[in-house]
This record gives sequence, structure tokens and C-alpha cells, in this order.
Amino acid sequence: MRLILTLVLLAVTATCVSGEDGSRVKRQGLLDYLKWTDNTMNYFYQDDLPLEMQAMFRDAFGYLSNHTCLKFNYSKEAENAVEIGPGDSCWARLGMDGGHQPLSFAYKCAAFGVAVHEIMHALGIAHSQARTDRDDYLFVNSEDHNDGIQNTANLVPFDYGSVMLYWRDQTRWPKDPEYNYTMGSLRVAFYDMILLNSFYECNCDNHPEKLDCKNGGYQNPANCNECLCTDGFTGQLCDQPDGTVFNASTEWKAEIIQSINLKGIHINTMPQYSKAPEGSTIEVRITKLYGFHCHDFCDNNGVELKYKTDRRIVSPLVCCDNDNLWNKTRSSTNIPFVIVKYGDPKTPIFEFEYRYIPGNSTLVDNQV
Ligand SMILES: [Zn+2]
Repeated sequence: MRLILTLVLLAVTATCVSGEDGSRVKRQGLLDYLKWTDNTMNYFYQDDLPLEMQAMFRDAFGYLSNHTCLKFNYSKEAENAVEIGPGDSCWARLGMDGGHQPLSFAYKCAAFGVAVHEIMHALGIAHSQARTDRDDYLFVNSEDHNDGIQNTANLVPFDYGSVMLYWRDQTRWPKDPEYNYTMGSLRVAFYDMILLNSFYECNCDNHPEKLDCKNGGYQNPANCNECLCTDGFTGQLCDQPDGTVFNASTEWKAEIIQSINLKGIHINTMPQYSKAPEGSTIEVRITKLYGFHCHDFCDNNGVELKYKTDRRIVSPLVCCDNDNLWNKTRSSTNIPFVIVKYGDPKTPIFEFEYRYIPGNSTLVDNQV
């Protein structure tokens, strides 16, 4: 299902000015739109919004509340509020627009990732293809307003796995073809929440205890007593493995991965690790993919070999074996090497091989 194809953004064309009265001040941020005050977004549901859609938004608000300092307050009485209703497409206005601003959520876009996408618009986040630096990462041949460049602050690296980036088609495609199937993800990327936290200046600076979060994690603005961890790690400091650990040797070894733990919301992940002595380079290659739903992009299932040095960024996703990218050998000096399988926990199976190269090797580094 190409759920994300239905995303349409109603661009608000009102231009912000640096008015002396401060009524609509141009702010540093992603867009020339207002942020919600006190980090609190008010919202309510129209009466005809189906209960299952309301449940999806409840999950999305819960996720955002647990990963940011933002708060979401159900109120029909609030002066400024997002009015979530059914419609025949999906769109939201950018930032706090004033009064009761519509957010349209049609059946055909009913997915957790789409709900987060639309809420992020309402919080003031633009599409990734609207970033001022997008031409470094994308070819765009589109007159659609959704693809127009906006005045963004680019507070996090461009991430092809962002839930704010559209899918690849003939009007926009990645300059790095390794990401052909990654664009259009319905997973919420780690950097998506960092973007929100940065935009709304959520942090733990005033918390008495500073946590030394490991493996790309950072102190959680929603709960400064814990770290938010990248895929594959858990524990207060993200120093514990959250998944199955395989010990690599210098010879190739093979594994078959079948089940997916029910973990996360809707798009489930089950990390695997390959461990090797510190200072080594780990190599991993997928040898078989069975039962994955393969279409133009890996939105609802796939495998991510997290070989990029930055553990926060999304590495290329694979779910199809019809190109020459899926079975490439990936190498990383990150130990452990994390592999994420996500999607419908029914049938997909994949096989992979792994080994390590001792630390004194002069391998070419295949990393960002
Ligand atoms: Zn959108």
C-alpha cells in the first residue's frame, strides 16, 4: 500500500513579518511560522473522526510526548488548537496558525508514521525536500508546492530516512542511489525527534544530573533521568544491547533471521548485532530476502544494516532483491554493528553473513 502517496500539504502562504507589534514575528527555526507557546499544542477531534483514527493520534501524541518536551492538550476551548478531522486527503497547516486550524486525516493515509508527519507539520516542521540544502541530496523536478524550498534552519543532518521526506518517484529522487528505497519511510527517524527537540529548545540543561549517553543516545528531554537510545541499544545510558548478539569471527558466518519482536509502535524493529574486538571493522552482507513486501520503497517493511558511522542516521533500507544494492557488503568500525529488521511481524525472513577484519587492517572505509 502506498499510504504515504496520499500526503498533501496545504501550504499556508501567509508571510511572516518582523512586526514591531510582535504579533507574527519571524523566528529562527525551520519555517517562518509560529511555534506553539509553552511547548504545548492544543488539539481536538471532530466528532466524525473514526475511533481507530483517534487511537492512531493517541499513539502518535504519546510517542512525541515520550521523546520531546512537547505537550499535547486536548481542548476544544483553547483559542489556538489543531482540529483533527477526516477528509479525502492528508494535510496540515504549518506551525501554530491561530484559531482552530484544520488537520485532515483520510482513511487512506491511516498510519502511525503519517499521523506523526502531520503533527510535525502542525508543530512547524517542513518536508525534508523543502530544506534549503535539499539540492545537495535530491534531484527535484517538480512544480508541486510540496516540493518547494522553504526557509528552513536545517537543525539536523539531512536524513533520507526521515518521516518528513517524500517517496522517490519521477519528480524527486536521491542523488545517492543507495537510498532509492529509503525515501518515503513511515518509520519515525531518530533525527526527526532531535529536530523537534532542537526546534523547540527541549533539553536537560537545567537537570542536576548529566548522563553520559552512549552509542548516539542523548538525555531525554521528556525524562531527564534516562537517555533516548538509537536502534539496538537500551538501558539508562544506552550501553546495553537491545536485541540478539552474534559474535563475529574473522571467517564469514551465516544467520537466518525470522521472527520480529513486537516492539515499538506499528513499525516494529528487532535489532541484531554483530560483535567483534574493539578496533575491528565488521562486514555484513545480506544473502537472501524472503517474503518482504517489495514495491517502490521500503515503507512498511525492510532491513537496515546500520553501517554509517553516525548511529543516529538511517542507513539505506532494503526490502527488494531486484537491484544490485541489497546484497552489498557493508562495513563499519562501530562495534557492535546493528542490524534492524522492521515491518509486519508475519513472514519476512532474511539471511546475512558477517565477519570482522582485525583493527590493523587497511580496509577502505565505507562510511559517511
Ligand atoms: Zn507533509
